[in-house]
Amino acid sequence: MTVDPKHKTNDDCRKRDPERQNRLLRDQFGRTATYLRLSVTDRCDLRCTYCMAENMTFLPRKDLLSLEELYRLTTIFMEHGVRKIRLTGGEPLVRKNVMSLFENLSRHLANGDLDEVTLTTNGSLLSRYARDLARFGVKRVNVSLDTLDGDRYRAITRWGSINRVFAGLDAAQDAGLHVKLNAVAQKGAFEKELNDLIRFAHGRGMDLTLIEEMPLGGAASCRHSSFLSLADLRHRLEQEWSLEPLAVTTGGPAKYVRISETGGRLGFITPMSCDFCSDCNRIRLSCTGELYTCMGQEGGLSLRDALRQSDGNEIVAQLLRQKVFEKPSGHDFLIEDRQVRGLTRAMSTLGG
Ligand code: SAM
Ligand code: SF4
Repeated sequence: MTVDPKHKTNDDCRKRDPERQNRLLRDQFGRTATYLRLSVTDRCDLRCTYCMAENMTFLPRKDLLSLEELYRLTTIFMEHGVRKIRLTGGEPLVRKNVMSLFENLSRHLANGDLDEVTLTTNGSLLSRYARDLARFGVKRVNVSLDTLDGDRYRAITRWGSINRVFAGLDAAQDAGLHVKLNAVAQKGAFEKELNDLIRFAHGRGMDLTLIEEMPLGGAASCRHSSFLSLADLRHRLEQEWSLEPLAVTTGGPAKYVRISETGGRLGFITPMSCDFCSDCNRIRLSCTGELYTCMGQEGGLSLRDALRQSDGNEIVAQLLRQKVFEKPSGHDFLIEDRQVRGLTRAMSTLGG
């Protein structure tokens, strides 16, 4: 497998900080965590049916870590070899003053502690923030868009305006950000529209990644009837398009193909139908400071008290190392025949 040349490893940093090599976050199965998904809020301006209930109850504001506390935690992760941070949520751009966190992280891009800071967003506020993101060193953003049809978009998100997302895509590309579209694959209208979505994304120079629906809590959709296996969908796409498998990895879970007819890349994220966990390099932190080493397992570990009770970082660091060491081999999701095994935790607690 070819590794993207931009994707440096911690070996590159050994010379600069030999101690860091000894602090790397290794788990009991030999995987090294180098990628942090940081949920900065559980709140969102939309209510996608596969993600949240319409009357979703959000966390009390007092339970959220401040942006300064979240930043302090990221510095501890960086000291342990985390080199890539993706901000997510909820909708990260609805968090008040979130650009200050991007600004703080940008210093670590400049000094080489981090390879990349990225963002997953629904795009509704991207037109407002795209230039600032670029200014703070963000090069790539993932924008979630499951349809090109305004009515269907409103139905999926319950009240969202697709024109705001289109404006966000324009602003992001104008600001020089590389945009990838994410779409949650579902049975029905999505299948009919997929070819248009592919043409749209690739026509604008954007990758498109399809995500299998995962049975997390809080959502209204019936997973069993909406679930679409991407292994099956890929076979069907092969009848219509020429898919050339690509060996490139961006360090994430997507497997990419190039579509010869469009020249663009199509990714498949298949937590349900294919092996997904054996080379997982991710850890996740919620906006309340809960550390999760697997999105598909309950059981976070709160870092909040340890963070607040000491000016030093050693207690948090010990908890972090221990929790990562205990990272489970894989998730425990299942959608099969009539059986669905998922989690009560909502997707918006930790982000995708
Ligand atoms: N609000 C932002 C957004 O929508 O991009 C970031 C958070 S959202 C939870 C991150 C990603 O998770 C989105 O691409 C969304 O489509 C996806 N997602 C939400 N619920 C999901 C589910 N049950 N299964 C798979 N993906 C899901
Ligand atoms: Fe909000 Fe993103 Fe969940 Fe949609 S998928 S409700 S935009 S957090």
